[in-house]
Amino acid sequence: MASHHIPLLSSFLLILAAIQGIRAVNYAATNTASNTSDGVHYTVTNTARNTSGAIRFDNHIGFEYSLQALASTTYFIWKLFQQTNDADKKNVSKVSLFIDDMDGVAYTSNNEIHVSAKYINGHTGNLKGEITGVFYHEMTHIWQWNGNGEAPGGLIEGIADFVRLKSGYIPSHWVQPGQGDRWDQGYDVTARFLDYCNDLRNGFVADLNKKMINGYNVNYFVNLLDKSVDQLWSDYKALYHKKASIYVCGCMCTRIFL
Ligand SMILES: [Zn+2]
Repeated sequence: MASHHIPLLSSFLLILAAIQGIRAVNYAATNTASNTSDGVHYTVTNTARNTSGAIRFDNHIGFEYSLQALASTTYFIWKLFQQTNDADKKNVSKVSLFIDDMDGVAYTSNNEIHVSAKYINGHTGNLKGEITGVFYHEMTHIWQWNGNGEAPGGLIEGIADFVRLKSGYIPSHWVQPGQGDRWDQGYDVTARFLDYCNDLRNGFVADLNKKMINGYNVNYFVNLLDKSVDQLWSDYKALYHKKASIYVCGCMCTRIFL
């Protein structure tokens, strides 16, 4: 009897292993997707499976769109940073996006972009546009230089939001041009200021980023625009203050944009 049981047991174990194998394949197929574009391998992984944010990600954004958006975001950034040769670009061969069950909005570390499923779940309005904008910001952190860690955090975040500004995917709650207290306040405030600087010299942000490959010096602003960053900031503030006054005087409207 025992000699009959052994093959039976083996068959049973084999079938079990096969079922486990199939499950593993299905699990992988539904939770992660990948693609290679312009020499960069992209993966998208939804680790927040079954949370309402992860389901919303599946329904409104999805793997296919994310892979496509990550690749086009990279291309957009290389172009904006004027990095046409491989030698100009950061040496990154793989970028991984994760949809995680976490607080906050998103962060980037070690060529991994993490986006919060909770944020996706709670966002009202154009979700796809908002997350696309988040991709532009976070992907900039993958490709930008940070002056070997010496550049101010506010400038790093400002460049990321400048790229987002140029992509057109910006939220309505952003400050208007001319608003803010300091040039290196970061995010939208610095992005609007960098946009002003970029209007003074086409390609300014690309040139500033190029300079930040090995270090950082506040005089990079003087080198590129012949004015100190403090002078540029006060010129910028004065320009919009003047515009606000003209606006109020011209139409007698009580709304003042500062
Ligand atoms: Zn950032």
